[in-house]
Amino acid sequence: MNAQSQSEEIAFDRSLPARPGELVRLSPLVRRMIAGNAGPMTFTGTCTYVVGNGPVAIIDPGPDDPAHISALLEVLGDETIAAILVTHTHRDHSPGARLLKQASGAKIIGCAPHRPSQEAGFGRLDAAHDRDHAPDAIMSEGDSIETAEFALTCVETPGHAANHLAFALAQEDALFSGDHVMAWSTTVVAPPDGAMRDYMNSLEKLRLRNDKIYWPGHGGPVVAPQRYVRALAQHRRAREAAILSRIAAGDSSIDAIVAHIYEGLNPALRVAAALSVLAHLEGLVARGQVAAEGPATLEAVYRPA
Ligand SMILES: [Zn+2]
Repeated sequence: MNAQSQSEEIAFDRSLPARPGELVRLSPLVRRMIAGNAGPMTFTGTCTYVVGNGPVAIIDPGPDDPAHISALLEVLGDETIAAILVTHTHRDHSPGARLLKQASGAKIIGCAPHRPSQEAGFGRLDAAHDRDHAPDAIMSEGDSIETAEFALTCVETPGHAANHLAFALAQEDALFSGDHVMAWSTTVVAPPDGAMRDYMNSLEKLRLRNDKIYWPGHGGPVVAPQRYVRALAQHRRAREAAILSRIAAGDSSIDAIVAHIYEGLNPALRVAAALSVLAHLEGLVARGQVAAEGPATLEAVYRPA
């Protein structure tokens, strides 16, 4: 049996969540407002979550979009903001934190300033980084913030980004999963921000938890999350097997591999696909399963080890 036939279908859910600018109640403790930044990488836009009632925590204020922040503040009215949490430093998640801090005085906590998973001269997705993120406090594994009503606890989940965090809401067995696990799509794991080994370890970490629902950075919730996370891991293992067999078949460039294994790819996602293949090849080269002339890069020549 080959790796493809072993892999479960991933049950993606692309049902559209609420319109941008509307604050929607999802549970007793969770509300969501979607930013107006829909696109091929962001689906219907970044999900900004409001946790709690009265003193609230805001998770991922989103892009540098004053209209989104003022719409959020307007619907919150008299509710005070206890903290602004950020999952990771991509420009669709963290820049809005500074606008919200300026307007509300609340502190920015959560992920560390931007850092690549490795020092390498890629720079392809540089535009995606938010290098200006300067948190008032950094959360590490197990750190919590609490109000009388709820606690949010940090779960380190590197992979999509080196500084990526998820936040657990124990009162509802919920996890704010950021861009690590989303219902609408697999996440981008692209060097230098991302690393495949970290991503796979972070999937395994979530698989062993008992969360009942995930609230992701884009799109609707992940239900039955442990099963979903297992399917995501199998999908990546199948993708890795497909790359190995393309190398064995004589493909020596990432372009050739992408053309073979991503049929019908949206051209807007081509660079992301190439970087995803690179993320796999980095791991395969490091483990000696594939040879590269020089370091694993987008332009390198690859061959069977
Ligand atoms: Zn995102």
